[in-house]
Amino acid sequence: MSVIVLAEHAQGAFKKKSQEAVQYASRIAAAMGTTVTAVAAGNISADELRTLGAYGAQKVLHVADARLDDLNSRAYSRMLVTAAQQEGAKVIICLHDTTGKAVAPRVAARLKAGMVGGAVADPVMSNGFTVKKSVFSGKAFANVSITSDVKVITLMPNTFGVKKGEGDATVESLSVAFDAADFGVAVKEVSKASGSVPLSEAELVVSGGRGLKGPENWGLIENLAAELGAATACSRPVADSHWRPHHEHVGQTGGTIRPNLYIAAGISGAIQHLAGVNGSKTIVVINKDPEAPFFKAADYGVLGDVFEVLPRLTDAVKKWKA
Ligand code: FAD
Repeated sequence: MSVIVLAEHAQGAFKKKSQEAVQYASRIAAAMGTTVTAVAAGNISADELRTLGAYGAQKVLHVADARLDDLNSRAYSRMLVTAAQQEGAKVIICLHDTTGKAVAPRVAARLKAGMVGGAVADPVMSNGFTVKKSVFSGKAFANVSITSDVKVITLMPNTFGVKKGEGDATVESLSVAFDAADFGVAVKEVSKASGSVPLSEAELVVSGGRGLKGPENWGLIENLAAELGAATACSRPVADSHWRPHHEHVGQTGGTIRPNLYIAAGISGAIQHLAGVNGSKTIVVINKDPEAPFFKAADYGVLGDVFEVLPRLTDAVKKWKA
């Protein structure tokens, strides 16, 4: 018996949020008196696979099939189900991200397991198995009991952060009996985010809303982000208006991020936007309307015009770095 966790990578390097998921799995495994087996797919070096040991995985099962370099939810679920059955796993963990949201429900259905999506705390196992998750766009929490024998959880990324420990995991290859239907959907092209820092992994994020007035002004956001080494994000209407690509939109219907610093410029702070960013450690809001709801969620508020404040902030960062 072990706890299984899906470890995602980008170009052969494990993502920070996957290291966090392995650490989460290791705490659950410790409480259950068992071990963690991570499952990874695609082109990853043995050295990189072993690094998951430093986050609490005793073993990594690797499926070295290049077709799994990109997300394929059917094939990924078959891979996780195979791993879970081989290891006799009672708990299976994915991230609450695009991959996990596509894969975890399929795994739960195939294993007839109960599932909780978007966990924000370690499960309480003193009396059953109860998982805390946020509901109503982060406005409330629900404690959900999973009563099935096998349990599937998706963990909200950036809930705990990551602390690197020591040790290497052992690596074994996992053989999976895929069938043709598993590859009935093929990834033809992957277009990368334009910024140099991937949004979901970024510690610093500069984000713009409709207050920027149009795409021609986005240089103000990009210049500050470049000086800080930050990723860029936006509100949903900005993406809907095609000022920015949709992968930059954060909120209830977009990405969930928890950076150390979130700078929101010209964003009102609607509840649906806050749902994606209110876990940020420090929130700085720049808005010219003193009644903007975002100020209530802000650690620092700048009451002013983004067209004045952003260039001054960018200059200040430049001077501070010089
Ligand atoms: P606005 O609401 O137009 O606000 C612009 C802000 O900029 C205002 O506060 C204004 O005071 C300020 N401003 C204007 N000019 C300046 C200036 N020169 N200097 C400084 N400040 C200025 N939204 C999301 O972002 N993410 C989501 O995932 C999301 N999901 C949704 C899901 C549903 C089901 C629904 C109904 C809505 C969703 N929305 C989402 C939309 C959300 O309700 C808001 O409409 C949206 O977040 C507003 O975007 P905004 O703040 O950029 O624009």
